[in-house]
Amino acid sequence: MKRIIVIGGGPAGTMAALMAAEAGAEAALWERNNNLGKKLTITGKGRCNITNLADIGDLVKNIPGNGAFLYGAFSRFSAEDTCNFFTSRGLSLKTERGRRVFPCSDDAHEVVDTLGRVLERAGVEVKYHMRAKRLCLRQGKACGVYAYSGELHPADAVIVATGGVTYPATGSTGGRAYDHSAAAFVGAIGNPGNLAGRSFRIIVEKRGNANLRSCQDFG
Ligand SMILES: Cc1cc2nc3c(=O)[nH]c(=O)nc-3n(C[C@H](O)[C@H](O)[C@H](O)COP(=O)(O)OP(=O)(O)OC[C@H]3O[C@@H](n4cnc5c(N)ncnc54)[C@H](O)[C@@H]3O)c2cc1C
Repeated sequence: MKRIIVIGGGPAGTMAALMAAEAGAEAALWERNNNLGKKLTITGKGRCNITNLADIGDLVKNIPGNGAFLYGAFSRFSAEDTCNFFTSRGLSLKTERGRRVFPCSDDAHEVVDTLGRVLERAGVEVKYHMRAKRLCLRQGKACGVYAYSGELHPADAVIVATGGVTYPATGSTGGRAYDHSAAAFVGAIGNPGNLAGRSFRIIVEKRGNANLRSCQDFG
């Protein structure tokens, strides 16, 4: 069984860990805080505007900048899919003015709790107070993650979902503006395109004959 470490317990990381577990992997989710989705709990003024039921064209039009790159993602997992994901897992939703979707409770914590329950049911090992320091790369592929304690945790693949830099008090301090290397992206998640906009610093370490590299300080 493949072991996958997902770094970051926000909505992106929780969904990635869930998908990995449902695909048959042994998935571990690392979150530096003592709970999941700290930023999620403040979204939509604490109510969490989960999605918007506008059609894909309108969604893309309303993304600041060039939102066209999101056509593919929205086509594969639409706003309706998002609603179905939550309602089929016990979260009641309502649609308000402007086709904005919120939990019926108007409480973002319910969204986080739902995600937590889903992870538990899927057998994802959630590790709190677990802060990733750097990736360990061997010949261009991720072979593990170093925790801030210095301990190396081996993995067959790593998914980095450490969020952006807004509201850093939530734990999302983002990646720093380091040198870009596609090798790290391939090693990290197997598809450089998925990490468009992120950058990492690659440090080459010599350990005996092994070509070990690490990707440092991504959050
Ligand atoms: C005030 C506000 C309101 C918003 N309202 C909405 C809304 O209503 N609807 C909406 O769709 N979006 C909203 N957003 C945007 C939404 O919050 C983000 O798009 C979303 O949280 C991004 O999810 P993420 O999983 O990529 O990152 P994040 O939610 O930022 O999660 C990243 C996680 O990674 C963890 N982490 C970081 N570094 C490490 C590390 N080294 N090791 C381990 N863990 C680490 C962090 O602690 C964090 O929990 C809002 C944002 C803000 C700031």
